Amino acid sequence: MLMHKARERIVEYSLRMLKDGLTVGTSGNISVRVGDNIAITPSGVDYEALVPEDICVITLDGKHVDGPDNPSTEVPMHAVVYQNTDALAVVHTHPVYATVLGTLVDEMPRIHYMLALLGGPVRVAPYAPFGTEELARNCIVAMQDRYGVLLQNHGATTYGDTLAKAYSRATYLEWLCRIYCEAKALGEPRLLSEAELDAVAGAVTAYGQSPSKS
Ligand code: 13P
Ligand code: ZN
Repeated sequence: MLMHKARERIVEYSLRMLKDGLTVGTSGNISVRVGDNIAITPSGVDYEALVPEDICVITLDGKHVDGPDNPSTEVPMHAVVYQNTDALAVVHTHPVYATVLGTLVDEMPRIHYMLALLGGPVRVAPYAPFGTEELARNCIVAMQDRYGVLLQNHGATTYGDTLAKAYSRATYLEWLCRIYCEAKALGEPRLLSEAELDAVAGAVTAYGQSPSKS
């Protein structure tokens, strides 16, 4: 079985995505890139029944390589992220607050300095039907210089150079969207300026990266 380790990690994180409330039912999908191949969740999966053998292996342009031949409908979106960034893992979710915010704004308001973890204020990609090349194009345009994107009337997508980082960004993005939605429900939230966000970008990116045990 090709990409065995990647498949195991995808199964582990798929279950986590469901348990953490980042998606509902069978929606969402996860992929990992190794060389010129991608391991990706199958379409319409029951995450609680998923095993490594169910994970599909395809080429960067979506051709079947190994495992079942029913990859996620969002192959075009995952592929475009790998083709245009240094991503080694992509996580696509349907979380409540990210989806809510994606119906209301064009760009994530600067509600918290942790936005720097996503590369800055995350943009909203205009709506296109799920699984289409049009959605993939909208996604990559909105993702420029960011590690994540909100998909209008749909959900969110993040990436990283490890699955752990792509997943962590998905959880931070949902948390940031929640902070904004909750604050907005109570009043008009104070926002950070661009300069304030820029000033901490380096420190936030370095945060938690160096194990400083002495
Ligand atoms: P798949 O089940 O085909 O991966 O699709 C789920 C989804 O989130 C579509 O946007
Ligand atoms: Zn989706």
